[in-house]
Amino acid sequence: MTLFEKIAARQIPADIVYEDEHTIAFRDLHPVAPIHVLVTPRLPLPGLSSAGTEHIEVLGHCLNAARRVAAQLGLEPGGYRVVINNGDDAGQTVPHLHLHLLGGRQMSWPPG
Ligand code: AMP
Repeated sequence: MTLFEKIAARQIPADIVYEDEHTIAFRDLHPVAPIHVLVTPRLPLPGLSSAGTEHIEVLGHCLNAARRVAAQLGLEPGGYRVVINNGDDAGQTVPHLHLHLLGGRQMSWPPG
């Protein structure tokens, strides 16, 4: 079981802010913004690279959940950022696909 599957199964505590049939979203343990939520599919895809065309719906559900959580947490209309770290060079540390939803402060570009 991945770390995020254990959170979904309530085996590891987390501050869950949203869940539906396909996704679960919880606050990051080490936030890098005032609002930092991880949106993850219940299906334990290791990363974006592991997704195929058969996962288009799963990917869509994740994006839709991120949009809903952003609105729920008051990040509209100010704005927010959604990030996927895929693989070592991007700094991915948890091998279960997840979107970082970041907001509540001014972001810079490009990211470091
Ligand atoms: P990434 O580096 O893109 O794989 O992101 C993994 C994220 O998971 C990091 O931002 C960590 O702070 C976060 N994280 C690790 N363990 C937990 C946990 N138990 N609950 C919530 N977030 C976690």
